This record gives sequence, structure tokens and C-alpha cells, in this order.
Amino acid sequence: MGKSPTTPLSSLRPATRAVHGGRHPFDHHGFVNPPVYRGSTVLFPDLDTLESGNQRYTYGRRGSPLMSALEEALCGLEGGQRTVLTSSGLAAITTSLLAFVEAGDHILVADTAYRPARTFCDGMLKRMGVETSYYHPDMGEGITALFRPNTRLVYAECPGSQTFEMQDIPALARACRTRDLYLLVDNTWATAIYFKPLAHGADVSINAGTKYIVGHADAMLGVVTASERAAKPITKALWELGNCAGTEEMYLGLRGLRTMPLRLERHWRAGVEMAEWLQARPEVERVLHPGLPGSVGHAIWKRDFTGATGLFSVVLKPASRTQLAAMLDGLELFGMGWSWGGYESLIVPFDPVGYRTIAPFTHEGPALRLHIGLEDTADLQADLAAGFERMRAAA
Ligand SMILES: *Cc1c(COP(=O)(O)O)cnc(C)c1O
Repeated sequence: MGKSPTTPLSSLRPATRAVHGGRHPFDHHGFVNPPVYRGSTVLFPDLDTLESGNQRYTYGRRGSPLMSALEEALCGLEGGQRTVLTSSGLAAITTSLLAFVEAGDHILVADTAYRPARTFCDGMLKRMGVETSYYHPDMGEGITALFRPNTRLVYAECPGSQTFEMQDIPALARACRTRDLYLLVDNTWATAIYFKPLAHGADVSINAGTKYIVGHADAMLGVVTASERAAKPITKALWELGNCAGTEEMYLGLRGLRTMPLRLERHWRAGVEMAEWLQARPEVERVLHPGLPGSVGHAIWKRDFTGATGLFSVVLKPASRTQLAAMLDGLELFGMGWSWGGYESLIVPFDPVGYRTIAPFTHEGPALRLHIGLEDTADLQADLAAGFERMRAAA
């Protein structure tokens, strides 16, 4: 906060909170940003303090003023009880799942969830005696039909990875409440700026900070924000697992957060503009973007979300691999690579056909996921238009 923090942050709007959350300049001689505290060992002044358990910071992995600043800022935005940071988005997912399950439990995971989350459930969780079943993203309150006596939690991601199916999170939350189950939501796409899972009844909001929070493709970071009843299990799991975010990464996350609302607004507008442009192209079969009027899931998006970001997919009309390669290999502005959420535009082919079991995704032509960065959309359109031209020429 600035000089006179008399207005409670909770009464301020998200963009303001992103700028002021977790800031205590006069704890740091007035400098706008906290310093990077590098350290493992934290010293205690005397035996009494060491034994008292009252010293705020005790060990690098467990906390630092920099860690507190980022946790506090993100926790305020998500409206949670406690936020913890992890070394990556995937670590945020695995930590969250491990916080609530034990051998003999059953969990429900959206068939449209981020694939590595699924790999963890089918691999390590299975070996530990936790059974996963996958559910259709359209289930809503009907998910109660899949509850078993040993079901512990529901893991959702909204919209779905790569294919952008929306889910009715409030309905899932109502279903979970009938049986005291935990509802976990991967909120990476919308971020806390555009969707607040906890306010819609979830217990845990998970974010790959690697994406929009860091925002510059230069660090890995995970964020878990817990409701009051989930805070203790989450913190305990994190500490037992020994996971923590790196110092530099936390600083980059905090730095990215300050401009995130502004960047998101641009990613959103440019994303919609590009999606509409693509929708009108003869090479495009369909566009998967919940923020587009008329798209599947748009009604839920409109009801629960306050914005969209720059990530969406398209399915092209049938084209050969040679044609696809001609298009992608010649792109000058769109990069080809994993992750997203940085300032730069990306494009990657994807194919969930092989692993989804409940909500099969069918496509005849190539499926491409695009991240629209902060470039001028006219230049991005020209890059893609030239790509379509190469595609046609390679037929
Ligand atoms: C990228 C991503 C993750 C994983 O984040 P990492 O930091 O790459 O481990 C988790 N969930 C979603 C939806 C993602 O897109």
C-alpha cells in the first residue's frame, strides 16, 4: 500500500488490488518493491525465540518477506484464506491433490483437464491406491451420480485444456457440498482477475503462475489458493512435500502481477479479434473460444467470468501434414512451443483424441491452439494469412 492504507484492499477493484496487494514499501525504506531475499538459513536472536515458534520467518523454504508479498497479493485477488507458492503449475496441481487423498480414496477429474494432471492421477496416485474416474465437463450438478462412498474431491479446469469446454462451477460446488467433498479448480486460463473459483463455491483455486502472472515466458511458478477449510491441508501438504518456489521466480511473479490486468485486457481484446478473423477464414472449420458469442459454453462464461484471455483453439478444414508443416514452419511472428501467457504469440498443434475417455473430441482437420500475444493484430493476421497461402500452395 501507499502511505495511508486506510481503505481496505477488499473494497477495491481487481486492477487496483493487483497494483497494491502485498505491498509494504515502508517496511523496505520506502522502495516501491520488496527486495529479493535470498536465503536458506534464517537466524534466531536467542534460544527463547528459537524455542518459542514466534519468529515470523524461520527457514527459506517456509517463507520470506518476498514470498509473503506475492502470497498476500494473490490471496487477496482470489479471495482466499491462504495462498501458497510452488515450483511450477504442475507442482501446484499435485500438491493440491495430495493434500486431500489417502489410499482407498476415489477422485473425480474432468476429462478435459490439463493432461499432465491426468498423468499424475493415472500414475503416482494410482500407485498410492487412489482411484481416478473422469467426468464429462457438462455434468454440472448431475455429477452426484458419480459420487461413491469413498469419493474425496472433484478436480475441474475451466475452460478445458486445448478444447475450451466450460463447466458450471457453482453447480459442481453445490453437488460437492451435499457430500462434503472438496472442489479444486485449475484457474490458469482466466486468472483471478476474470474468474474467482472460491467465490463460486470451490475450495481450491490452482494457477500456473508460469503463464499470465509471470507473463514474460521467463520463469516457472505455481500458485494454490485455499478456502478456510482447505487452508490447513494445503499448507501441510506443501510443507511435507518440501516444495517451494525459487526466489527469482517469486520476484518475477510479483513483478508480472503488477501489470497483469492491463496485459490481460489486451490479450482478451486481441484474442477475440483474432478468433473472429479466423472464424471468417475459409480454411477454418470452427473456433473454440468461450468468449465468442454463439460459441459452446458462452452462456456460462458470460454468467460467471468477467473476461477472457488470449488462449483459444481452431480446427481447420482437412489438410495434409505437408500442408500443415508448410503453414507452421514459415510463420514469422507466431512461435511454436509449449506454455503460453507471455507477451508473445504462439501456435501449437494438439490432438486429445488419444487420451480422453469420457468426452471424446473429434476433428477431421488439424487442431491448433493459439496464444495471442501483445503484438499488433494486423501483423498477426498477415502472418497467419501468409501461412494459409503456403498451406494452399502445398496442396
Ligand atoms: C501450463 C499449465 C499448467 C502447468 O504449469 P507449469 O508451470 O508449466 O507446470 C497447469 N494447468 C494449466 C491449465 C496449464 O496451462
